[in-house]
This record gives sequence, structure tokens and C-alpha cells, in this order.
Amino acid sequence: MPGLRSYHSFHLSSNCDSLLVFEDVEQLQSALDNTSHYYLLGEGSNTLFTEDFTGTVLVNRIKGISTTVTESAVCLQVGAGENWHELVTFALKQGYHGLENLALIPGSVGACPIQNIGAYGVEVANFIESVDYIDLATFTQKRIAHDQCQFGYRDSIFKHTLAGKVVITQVNFKLPKNYKPVTTYGELAVLNQPNAQDIYNEVIRVRRKKLPDPAVLGNAGSFFKNPVIGLEQYQKLLSIHAEMPAYKVDKHHMKIPAAWLIDKLGFKGRTVGEVRCHPTQPLVLTNLGHASGEQVIQLARQIIDSVEQQFAITLEPEVRLVAKHGLITL
Ligand SMILES: Cc1cc2nc3c(=O)[nH]c(=O)nc-3n(C[C@H](O)[C@H](O)[C@H](O)COP(=O)(O)OP(=O)(O)OC[C@H]3O[C@@H](n4cnc5c(N)ncnc54)[C@H](O)[C@@H]3O)c2cc1C
Repeated sequence: MPGLRSYHSFHLSSNCDSLLVFEDVEQLQSALDNTSHYYLLGEGSNTLFTEDFTGTVLVNRIKGISTTVTESAVCLQVGAGENWHELVTFALKQGYHGLENLALIPGSVGACPIQNIGAYGVEVANFIESVDYIDLATFTQKRIAHDQCQFGYRDSIFKHTLAGKVVITQVNFKLPKNYKPVTTYGELAVLNQPNAQDIYNEVIRVRRKKLPDPAVLGNAGSFFKNPVIGLEQYQKLLSIHAEMPAYKVDKHHMKIPAAWLIDKLGFKGRTVGEVRCHPTQPLVLTNLGHASGEQVIQLARQIIDSVEQQFAITLEPEVRLVAKHGLITL
């Protein structure tokens, strides 16, 4: 049975019945012809294999970057199996700006539109013009334009109507030439008139300081999404916890940092077996070396239950949990 430890960033010692890497659409088609039950994987930085998976893991490594320059923008057509951070670095080196706030986010380009990756005040949706995919019902190539992608906070149509029905093969980006650095968020706000390179450097510095490197300490980044709550509930909670941080989503909703809720309940450093709530970033659960899927689920459930009891807020995992037969919820 092929091991999945090196195929996902949490590095659990799970296996699968078979594993196939595809580098083009023909190889994908032949892989699909030979399997009825499969899980599609990019770089596994948002996926945890909590048990042995009874099926085929299909690993996307479709490569290639082409560039078209227009008067007002640079357009990049990028194979879904390219590495995201390498794309950000490539774009910066070519003098194409905009993606630098998203430096060092692990994963493949093909996965970036699915949860609309975001960091330091920028979401990838801002730069996606369209997404090319294989429609698995008909095995035809299709293109979906930005406006149809239903991008939201860590969300898109690929998590809903198109979930499990497509394989993304290429993402088409448009980087406007009238570049304006985004420095509204956290540590970037202190930079003095930074250029794209300064932002890239600072984002990398801060991320390295704050987040454990999955190559050293297995993890899947933020384990939970930041919950969005109604204004009424927010005001009620604020009257009890005056120091509670929050960000406005719209007139009626506020986003609460899940890390604050988890920290408030004393979970920093809490360990179940070989799974630990990271001592400096409680939104991240880590694998101390030999963690099991069961231990991950146990600690995640303890956090969800405590936050629910204390704040009446239901935390939702940001990561995908894959068990024996496929995706599970907590
Ligand atoms: C240390 C760390 C820090 C992180 N920081 C951030 C952050 O700041 N912001 C953020 O948004 N995310 C962050 N993440 C999460 C992660 O980097 C992103 O979700 C990333 O886009 C996952 O890419 P992947 O290729 O590894 O996806 P995978 O885990 O391989 O797949 C994720 C999901 O997408 C599906 N999928 C993958 N490729 C395709 C495809 N080609 N077609 C159709 N479906 C596909 C899979 O089936 C799965 O359901 C972080 C993760 C880690 C480990």
C-alpha cells in the first residue's frame, strides 16, 4: 500500500490502495478509466488523511506557465500542478506585482481558487480571471470566468456546486499594471512606502516567525476558519469580553479570529497524544512526530465543543479530513 505521509503536510502515517501522479489531461483520463473511487490531491497542505484511504489518490502535477502582456495588465496562464509560492516568486522576479502578500502559502496553483487562498489583506480571487477544468461527467475541458466562481472568504463554487465534479487543470491570472501595494494588514502596516519586493520579504519573515514549517513540524496551516457571526451576537459577546478582536464583514456580520477564541480557552500547547495545539499560534494543530488521525479528531472536537459551550460559536474546520471512504466532517 503506498504511504501518504510525504503527500500531505500533516504527515500522518496513512496509506492508500494506490497512488497515481498525472502530468497532463491524457494521463488523468487513463487514471480515471482505471479507478472508480479516488481522491484528488495537489500538495496536500489542506488535507489530512486521518485513516488508510480505500481508493486511489490522484496527484496533480500538470506544469507550465505562459505569459501574455497587454497594455494594462500581465496575464499568466498557469498549470494546476505548479507550486504556488514558486509562482509568486516567478511573478515578482519578472516584475509582475500583486501576488506578493500571498508568498509562502503552501500548495498547488490548482487548489488556490478552491478555498480562495488569502493572507495579509489579499485574496487570490482579486487576480483570477478564469479557471480551466475538466468536467468529470463528460470529460470535456471547460472555462469558468471570475464572476461565476462565487468567490468568498475561503470559499468558491468549487466547494459547492462543482465540488467533486471537476479537476482544475489551469488557472488564468490577470495582474493589473497599475500596482498598488496592500499594506493594511497587521505587520505590513508599519512598512514605509514598501515596494513589492519589500512586502514579499516581510511576509516571508513574519510567516516564518509565526507558523511552524510543515517540513519540520507536520501541520496544515489554520485548522479552523475564522467564524463569522451576526452583529447582535457580537455585541452580546463584547459586553462580556470587551477585549475580543473582530473585523467587520458587512453591515450585519463580524469575523472573529478563531485563534483568539481558542487561546482564551487555554488550548495553547494542549496535547492529545502526539497532536499539539501550537503554543504560539493556537489556530494551528501540529504533528509532534507520530500523531494518529484519531488524536487529531479528538483534539479538534475538544476545541469545537469548548468554543461552542463558552461562546455559542461553531468552529468549522478549514482543512479537508479524509477517512477510509473519503471526506468526513467533524
Ligand atoms: C503552514 C501552512 C500555512 C498555510 N497558510 C495559509 C494561508 O495563509 N492562507 C490560506 O488561504 N491557506 C493557507 N494554508 C492552506 C493551504 O496552503 C491552501 O489551502 C492551499 O491552497 C492548498 O493547496 P494544496 O495543493 O496543498 O491542496 P490539497 O490539500 O492537495 O487539496 C485541497 C482540496 O482541493 C482539492 N484539489 C486540489 N487540487 C485540485 C484540482 N486541481 N482540481 C480540483 N480539486 C483540487 C482537493 O481534492 C482537496 O479537497 C496553509 C497551509 C499550511 C500547511
